[in-house]
Order: sequence, then structure tokens, then C-alpha cells
Amino acid sequence: MLYEIRASDEEGNQSQSHGQSAVGSDAQAMAAGGADMAAPANRSSAARNSGLLSMEFGSSFASGTVPGAERAWDAVASSDVETLWSGDYYNEGTSPHDGWTDKLREECGVFGVFGHPDAASLCYYGLHALQHRGQESAGICTADADNFHYHRGMGLVKEVFDNNTLPGLQGTGAVAHVRYSTAGESKLQNAQPLVFKYREGDLAIATNGNLVNAPELRRKLERMGSIFQTTSDTEVLAHLIARSEHDDIVDAVKDALGQIVGAYAFLVMTKDKLIAALDPHGLRPFVMGRLGDAYLFASETCAFDAVGGEAVRDLEPGELLVLDRDGLHLDRFTEAKKRAICAMEYIYFARPDSDIDAINIHSARKRMGKRLATESFVDADVVTGVPDSSISAAIGFAEQTGIPYELGLIKNRYTGRTFIQPSQELREQGVKMKLSAVRKVVEGKRVVMIDDSIVRGTTSLRIVNLLREAGATEVHVRISSPPFQNPCFYGIDTPDRKELIAAQKSIEEIRKAINADSLHFLSQEGLLEAIGRTAQEENRGHCTACFDNKYPTEITDHAKAGCGCD
Ligand code: SF4
Repeated sequence: MLYEIRASDEEGNQSQSHGQSAVGSDAQAMAAGGADMAAPANRSSAARNSGLLSMEFGSSFASGTVPGAERAWDAVASSDVETLWSGDYYNEGTSPHDGWTDKLREECGVFGVFGHPDAASLCYYGLHALQHRGQESAGICTADADNFHYHRGMGLVKEVFDNNTLPGLQGTGAVAHVRYSTAGESKLQNAQPLVFKYREGDLAIATNGNLVNAPELRRKLERMGSIFQTTSDTEVLAHLIARSEHDDIVDAVKDALGQIVGAYAFLVMTKDKLIAALDPHGLRPFVMGRLGDAYLFASETCAFDAVGGEAVRDLEPGELLVLDRDGLHLDRFTEAKKRAICAMEYIYFARPDSDIDAINIHSARKRMGKRLATESFVDADVVTGVPDSSISAAIGFAEQTGIPYELGLIKNRYTGRTFIQPSQELREQGVKMKLSAVRKVVEGKRVVMIDDSIVRGTTSLRIVNLLREAGATEVHVRISSPPFQNPCFYGIDTPDRKELIAAQKSIEEIRKAINADSLHFLSQEGLLEAIGRTAQEENRGHCTACFDNKYPTEITDHAKAGCGCD
């Protein structure tokens, strides 16, 4: 097995290819990893015991490790119970808070292609459509008959890929990823897809979500000799696959998935297979599509629209789909558990033009706005929404009440990342660069301001004050979700519970804190009815843990809420 590793370039990007045609030697891998690379006949058993043969991260190279270490522990059982969690909350991933970026953040988007001659270009456009799910890094890995080719970098998709990098990504299969970096530091080695050299060949993995038992699994793996190169849950999965007693990759992936607990949408690619799997509760959105004879996978259907494809169906909880030269194979790695799709996807994260479970996001948000209007009508002159995610709900509120909808707030789309100024005065100025109140719309008016959520409350206060400074005589805040009181462990970057204003204050105290004339949140019942999923399933098939503290999986005190793709 030969390989080539290119060090990161000056922009911090990584481009690599490996396989028979590249340069490098197994001796280097042996030196790095200690596995028995010199004796092919022994490789498989040694590799199984020692973990991965190698992981490739540009300038670094690592393996997991102690030959002869015993495999296996009892699988960590996933429970099908609602967990009321009251433990300490440790979120190493929460980003620095500048008073403006007081929003929840989706942490990853995935895209996959099987059977298309221009797989890399499809990924490029698919990732563009998923850019709202992660802006810190992007990556594409393609597979042709012999090699993997990949390129990853820090930044937006348009910054990471160009005419020099895309043509090198040859092959008809691909996995791709956008990621939001939670720690605020450059972590190129965590950018996905992660590419591993595994005893049966090469493996590329891209994930969206978070494994709640990753810390326990990681400790066990490390005790058994595995050496980790990233803080990514994805690498935990790779080690579990590598240590599986099954030689067949599909069986090895099933074996690994059987040991993890959490919310995840996984794409695993070998040179001749693409495997897609969704967690047993279906917490994260994951959909299969087609483009001609090719198969597509994506976190959201908007990515299919971007490449001219069409959605076929959402993956079922616990489902595992395998694509190879014989076509599509439907399989499962476990029985489906109580369905618990993330309600915040409908409220805030997903793009309005996406559908989840055949429910259009814009339409669901409009219904939330209508329901909010019936639950908390207030006489006013104008309704406005905080751009972009609250505009649909604001339109619904306006339609229901007959109060005209107006663009009272405008987002400046071209500020990019602004330097956080040291003084409070300049920081306020930075806020105004990102959002403006339209004076001619709100001056002398009683304004209903619709937002999708309140996290710490600081953003709401600033926006209410913007409207007042622009002349609004009253500002009534309506929130198209219930109070956000609990952290998320399933791949959403949330602050500690003690920073969540709804966990610390009554609604009247929040109203005063954000300087609003009145404040109402959508009820949970109203939210679930507005989304419109079947009433047959418990909680209509949603996770609402951040509102009601009922987690669909076991949550250990060691669980971290940082992104699993971090
Ligand atoms: S806790 Fe909230 S944000 Fe996290 S998956 Fe559940 S509904 Fe979504």
C-alpha cells in the first residue's frame, strides 16, 4: 500500500490523494503506527487488534496502535427512555459570545454522491446549498477505481475550492462536508471528510451530529491502545470500524454503529461502496435523492435542488443504505426507536426551501406564526421578522392577524466576519453593521417583532433597542418556539444551562431584560401541531428536549454538547 501526503498549504488547505499511483511507503506508516505493516499476511489480524493502520491529516499521520491489545467491551447499550437530565453541563464547544452571535448553531452538513462522473462538482454545489449548516471548514473526498482524492480547508466553500482544486478530485463517488468550528480556533485536522487507511482499504467518513457516549468510547479505545489525532466523534467511529471482527465493511460499520449512542447522519465511503446511516431515533435530517442514474445523499433537500436532482425519501431511523456496483441495498443496523426528529430544524436550522419528512420548512414556519398569533394576539401597526429564519413565521403571524407584514429589519449580507471591537461603543456599532431597522417602516408604529428563539437574551435586547431607536413606539416580541431551557447534546452548539435566559428567568423577567412591551412564546403543543407531523407518534415524532428536558437517549454526565464533527 502506497500513499502520499501533502502538507497544508499557506491557506491551511489540504489536498491529498493516495493509492497505488502515489508515493510514500508502508515503512512510514509502520513507524508512525506500530502496526505490523511489513508482513501482509499478518496485517489483517494485527490491524484488527491495533485499530486503524493510519489516518491522514495532511502534514500529520497517525495510527492506532498497540499490537495484540484485546478487542472489545460490551456494547454501550442505548436506551429508549426519555431522560430528564439535571447534571452539570460541560460544553467545550460553545463559541466565544460577542453579544451578537447569540444564536444556536447547526454544526454540520453532509453531501454524498454515488455513480456520477462529475461527483466533485455536484458536491461543490451541494455544499454551497448547505453552507448555512457550517461556515468554518469544507471538504470533499472522491473515489475513483484506484484512489481517494480529497481537499479540505478552513473557510467557506467558495474560499476552500477553486479551479485548481476541483479538477483534481476525480471519481464517480464522493462524500463532502461543511462544518462549523465550535472552539473558535483553527482545527484543520478536524475538517471533514476524515480519511482513514483501514485494513481492508481506504475509508472516508463525513458526519452530522454528536455521539453522547463518545467520551466513554474514546477512553476505552485509548485504554486499548488507540491513538486519536482529532477530537472528532467521527474518529471514534473509525476506530470502532477498524477494531471490528468483521472483515466485510458493511458488517464492520453495523458493528460500530451498534456501540454508539447519539444523533448522527453518517456517510462512509470506500473505493467501491457508499454507506449511509441514520441514528435509531432519526434525530438529524438525512435524505436520499437521485440525479439520473446517480444516487445523492444530503442533510437537506435544498442541496438536491442546487444540482438539479430530486429528493426520493428521508432515511428511516436505524436504517443503513449501501450502494455498490450492484445498486442500492436496503438494510438496517438496528431496530428503529421512538422517532425524535429535531424540532429546531423546523424552527430555525433548516433552509426554508428544504423539506424534512415531506414537510416544507417555510410552510411549517408560517403555520408556527399563525398559531403564535392565535395564542398571543396583540393589537399593533406592523409585523416584522428577524432575518432570515423568522421571516416565514412573521408572514404567518401577519396573515393570521391582518396586521401588515413589513421589512422592518434588514440584514447586511456582506459584512462577513467582523473583528470584535474592544470597546462597548464600537461593539454596538458592529451590531448595526449586521442588522438595521428601517426607520420609515417602524417610526411612530407599534411593532410586533417575530423571532425564532431566545438563547441568552442579549440579541433580543439589541434588536428591540434598534427598533426603539428607529422610532417604534411599542415593541411586542413573539417567539415561534417554546422557551429554550436545556442544552442540546445532539450536534447543536448551545451554551451552558446557566447562560440560557429561559432557564434562569420567568417570562416576565425576560420581557424586562429584553426591554419589550410584551413577550410570548409559542406553546409546545402549538409548535408540534404547526409542524404538522402525524399525531400517531409520541410527541409527534420530535425531539423537544431543549424545551421540555426530555431527552430521547441516555445522557451521561460525561456527555459534551460540542459538535460531533468537531
Ligand atoms: S435538544 Fe433541541 S436542538 Fe437538540 S436535537 Fe433536540 S430539539 Fe434539536
